[in-house]
Amino acid sequence: MNLKERDDQYIAHTYKRFPVEIVSGKGSLVFDENGKRYIDMGSGIAVTSFGISDELWVKAVTDQLSRVQHTSNLYYTKPCVDLAQLLCEKTGMKKVFFSNSGAEANECAIKIAREYACQNLGEDYYKIITLKGSFHGRTITTLSATGQEHYHEKFRPMTPGFLHVEPGDTQGLRKLFETEKIAAVLIECIQGEGGVIELDPDFAKEAQEIAHGCGALLMVDEVQTGNGRTGTLYAYEGYGLSPDVVSTAKGLAGGLPLGATMMNEKVENVLGYGDHGSTFGGNPIAAAGAVSILERIDDAFLAQVRRKGELLKKAFASGSGIEAVSGRGLMIGIKTVKPAGEVVQKAMEKGVLCLTAKDKVRLLPALNIPEELLIEAAGIIREAAAL
Ligand SMILES: *Cc1c(COP(=O)(O)O)cnc(C)c1O
Repeated sequence: MNLKERDDQYIAHTYKRFPVEIVSGKGSLVFDENGKRYIDMGSGIAVTSFGISDELWVKAVTDQLSRVQHTSNLYYTKPCVDLAQLLCEKTGMKKVFFSNSGAEANECAIKIAREYACQNLGEDYYKIITLKGSFHGRTITTLSATGQEHYHEKFRPMTPGFLHVEPGDTQGLRKLFETEKIAAVLIECIQGEGGVIELDPDFAKEAQEIAHGCGALLMVDEVQTGNGRTGTLYAYEGYGLSPDVVSTAKGLAGGLPLGATMMNEKVENVLGYGDHGSTFGGNPIAAAGAVSILERIDDAFLAQVRRKGELLKKAFASGSGIEAVSGRGLMIGIKTVKPAGEVVQKAMEKGVLCLTAKDKVRLLPALNIPEELLIEAAGIIREAAAL
């Protein structure tokens, strides 16, 4: 049997894969089993922040790998503490809980909200408001938080305690606070899986004001938007928000599984001994990788992310078959006349890997992608989209 047949036989059929086996790569280039070269405009869904096999990242990870690969959270390890300190110093948040994925980072946020509300508002204040079109993960509880009905259909009963409002519906949000007992509001500044949809900054600020006015928490899901992706270290900074809880994952460790839930001074002591845990969370190899990524995301680096984002936006501002472009930094959505899947397929044939998000072509290249490759990829995607 060939690879595809064995995959079909032995792996659960939850993914629709492209007929490409990726065997190697370097930076923003990847190569398939026939040696065909692709420009990687998806970076493993916003994960390989500095591309494939980035030298400093490989060194940080392999140095740690040769020292100790895992200890459990019963003992101290330096990469884990270094990373927590770096995250707090760079954001002003006060504490971090480490896990292994975005869904887990959000699970932790949800637990913090429930415990905080129980301590400060009352036991019956456990409801969390999220936005329609949002995506917060695949566990039953983070699916329940996800504001898209079709994800719920096959898995009922969902976890109770989640309410969904339309992004931008300040009135609806205020009404929920009047009629329900709310612990927190959880938002994405830019909905990623939902179609690269930017939240209206005024609505985001109003949501924060309303939540804080009622003693509830503002929590931002930065699993996709975080770690420099949108041109600020975290997207909430670009939105001028002061969240109480921030979850992140995807690009944090540059290609190793790591989730982080950051807490501000209001909630830093909400979780106590035994309230939460993770066997692998804060694993020293993943943490060492994350330190090497985060250390390099400084102001100058973020400025080049924004500049490259502008370059992409300009490239897709008009053109045959292109209707609109959205997003910030290197998180870009392109509404095409042709179905997005068709454009992605055609781009792949021409040597560019990109993603879809709902009806859009979604671009999430490595943050350090060379400008020449970005321009080459944009040209190919434009061709693929052309009528
Ligand atoms: C990908 C994603 C998640 C889920 O992350 P996993 O690591 O797949 O569990 C949650 N929230 C957002 C916004 C995401 O983009």
